[in-house]
Amino acid sequence: MAAGGPAAAGAPEHMPVCGPPQYRTPFGRAGGGPSKLPPMELNGTGAIVSGGASGLGEGTARELAAAGCRVVVADLNEERGKAVADAIGGLFVGTDVSDEESVQAAVDAAASAGPPLRVVVNCAGIGFAARTVARDGTPHDLAAYRKVIDINLIGTFNLMRIGAAAIARTEPADGDGQRGVVINTASVAGLEGQTGQVAYSASKGGIIGMTVPAARDLAAIGVRVNTICPGIIDTPIYGTGPGSDEWKARLAAPVVFPKRMGTAAEFAQLVRALIENDYMNAEVVRFDGGIRFQPK
Ligand code: NAD
Repeated sequence: MAAGGPAAAGAPEHMPVCGPPQYRTPFGRAGGGPSKLPPMELNGTGAIVSGGASGLGEGTARELAAAGCRVVVADLNEERGKAVADAIGGLFVGTDVSDEESVQAAVDAAASAGPPLRVVVNCAGIGFAARTVARDGTPHDLAAYRKVIDINLIGTFNLMRIGAAAIARTEPADGDGQRGVVINTASVAGLEGQTGQVAYSASKGGIIGMTVPAARDLAAIGVRVNTICPGIIDTPIYGTGPGSDEWKARLAAPVVFPKRMGTAAEFAQLVRALIENDYMNAEVVRFDGGIRFQPK
């Protein structure tokens, strides 16, 4: 017998079998199983977005608020973070993702903001460029390497673990026992880092590597985990002004299609889709217009 049910007549034993159409209706499964529709409902739930003061996090905070979430913007940047939170009817909590107490306080605020906390999105991060050994023979600065790992990788884990523990204290949201979703932001540099990206790529590769085991761990509390690997998305991380425009045009040149940088709104649309689709779990998704990074 195939795992999960009887094999269809004539189908090989090992082949997963999609049920005949009557087993899946627009309103859920026929036969009394738990309904899969509507999907993970965002309206009237709580969300926390690290890095929500800028770029991908800001776009995500705005998208989730538009979907009806009460959003906690957790960021180091108080001025921008408050402005975003005010604009979306959310709450800003000054947060350093690499600090345990700071993240605990932000999650406590999100968990006590009213609606049940269901969504954790990790967008806080920093860029850094240096070769393992510089052209003049100097080895990579170890403190700089540690800092990138501390913010990008450990910061992501820190919010994921504390946020998921808070989600675990909520009632299940559906018949599957689902309580919430974690979305982490890695990078295509975590898969194919360029020259000078050794620290950044290690931090993002760690996020990619956590995805499957974290999803397995958190299945016990009904929490899904997905990771997005953006390519070249137009945000303040590349700086602003004419100098940065030239650099961004060069970075985006190898994008396959559409021939441009991505936008924070498009990223946020993907975050929302991954949250709302109940069957997306333990996945690492490239979001890059087809770009494949060359060595330089
Ligand atoms: P951004 O600079 O616009 O935003 C990053 C935000 O993170 C800022 O608001 C900053 O204040 C915050 N932050 C930094 N350190 C923090 C800390 N210790 N604690 C809390 N907040 C902190 O950058 P972005 O482009 O929106 O990047 C968001 C994430 O996406 C980053 O992890 C980045 O590595 C990743 N990413 C971006 C791109 C891109 O092309 N923009 C591509 C791949 C991956």
